[in-house]
Amino acid sequence: MYCPFCSKVDTKVLESRLLNDSIRRRRECLNCSNRFTTYETAKIHLKVLKRKGHEQEFEITKVKKSIEMACGKIDNEIVSNLTKTIEMKILNKKTNAIKSAEIGNIVLNELKKTNKMAYLRFASVHKEIEDPVILKKELNTMIRK
Ligand SMILES: [Zn+2]
Repeated sequence: MYCPFCSKVDTKVLESRLLNDSIRRRRECLNCSNRFTTYETAKIHLKVLKRKGHEQEFEITKVKKSIEMACGKIDNEIVSNLTKTIEMKILNKKTNAIKSAEIGNIVLNELKKTNKMAYLRFASVHKEIEDPVILKKELNTMIRK
């Protein structure tokens, strides 16, 4: 890390703080004694293979957005926990590339367990349920409850 004041590389870490998804470090330059802060975040290189053959860098924020949209107005914490669970499932596959449909299925499985309405909304938006018979069956199990 270069000092933003004098561009030398030798810095001393004064304090490290663990934040939600990053580590913040207060540093002091050993050359000019100026202080600055750096943030360290974990980056995962995972490619998402889209339906039409192109690739995209995996971003959990995109997954979270689609979950939020499917869930409508529910507790933020529920969405966050759901997103974390889904992220772990995806990362546990220990692969460098994943099909977008596969991510869709993981999301669907989790939504199915927690929120049936969100599950159906997600399924209809992402057209993961291509078979209308399956959709009808899902609706029927909901109506019966
Ligand atoms: Zn400096």
